[in-house]
Amino acid sequence: MLFNRMKKMSNVLIKKIDKIDIEHNRCLKVRAVISSCSVCTDVCPAPGSIQINQDSLELQDCLDCGLCTTVCPTNALKWNSPPLSQIEQRIKRLAKNEQTVYITCSAMEHKTGHSSIVEVPCLGMLPAEFWLNIGLSVNNLSILVSSDNCKQCSITTGEQVFQQQLDKAYENHSNPFPICSEVSLQNQTDSSIDHGKRNFLSSLMEEVKETNTITVKEVLEVNKTLSPFEKFDQYYQQKNEIEEISDEVNEIKQSLADQVLKDNVIHTDKRSLLLSAFKQSPQLQEEMTILMPTIKESCTRCGACSFLCPTDALYADGKDIILATNKCVSCQLCVEICYEKHISMEPKAATIMNNKYMYILKS
Ligand code: SF4
Ligand code: SF4
Repeated sequence: MLFNRMKKMSNVLIKKIDKIDIEHNRCLKVRAVISSCSVCTDVCPAPGSIQINQDSLELQDCLDCGLCTTVCPTNALKWNSPPLSQIEQRIKRLAKNEQTVYITCSAMEHKTGHSSIVEVPCLGMLPAEFWLNIGLSVNNLSILVSSDNCKQCSITTGEQVFQQQLDKAYENHSNPFPICSEVSLQNQTDSSIDHGKRNFLSSLMEEVKETNTITVKEVLEVNKTLSPFEKFDQYYQQKNEIEEISDEVNEIKQSLADQVLKDNVIHTDKRSLLLSAFKQSPQLQEEMTILMPTIKESCTRCGACSFLCPTDALYADGKDIILATNKCVSCQLCVEICYEKHISMEPKAATIMNNKYMYILKS
């Protein structure tokens, strides 16, 4: 028991060193070979680095640019050094004290130790939801970037992904961020402070705090995702139970709904950032649309969509299908695996996520 816990702890610490977390079971191609998802390999600037096998996802000779984590819809690949939420918090903290906060990439030359600069490996590792969210809460953030630098960079697809994500945020009414190619030295608030040391110490503290949270979560198995086999067993166990007590169908419907509501929802980074943006701007949520699955009456109730959904957003009991609207990440795997094409994705007002669950097929 003690040995197992220590082994888990050491796994966590080893995992902490990796800049990108891999959750094999969340990859659409690992879950269903039929999936056409290839967005991570399409944007990866180091061809062959991402290997998708029958039951695992591997990274080899990775440049640690984080572009794949930006585009992966399910967090199968997730940036972890530091997580997006920490980058966001750091910008917010700095924005309170500094005249202007700059976000830039590690290839961009700037005065090192400058107190108001937040550096990430590549600006393309920040998804549209990040820009949308930060744009609503911070009004003194500038992007420090130079197209000339990008053209010489080994992360060849970085500039394109950065621009696409920024454009996507602007489509959703984010105010444009000022873009500059050098830092204003007047922005430095207190030259007597050794900002290099201060930044180092504060990032060290953040790392320690985050390690503790991740370690505790891992050891307590809070974030454990079931393997397809466990989920398959669980599905059949639930199905058999439901058949045995078919005369209590109405009660079961209620309990399924309760289960969805009570479930510990683990959002992807992008959904968490989007929900945080909606909290800050209910108007944004009213104006935005989001793709969600709808199912035709002709559905045969085979349950394959529920079985393969990577975020457990679909619950099927052989008669009805419930969609947990706050768990669905619009990955479209359910559409792709339905052989008889009973499922399609339809744009819905983003306020649908407040419902938490809804019947998308009712007997
Ligand atoms: S983007 Fe994510 S879900 Fe799609 S193939 Fe890559 S790792 Fe899998
Ligand atoms: S319900 Fe469909 S679109 Fe939504 S997360 Fe599950 S598989 Fe993806």
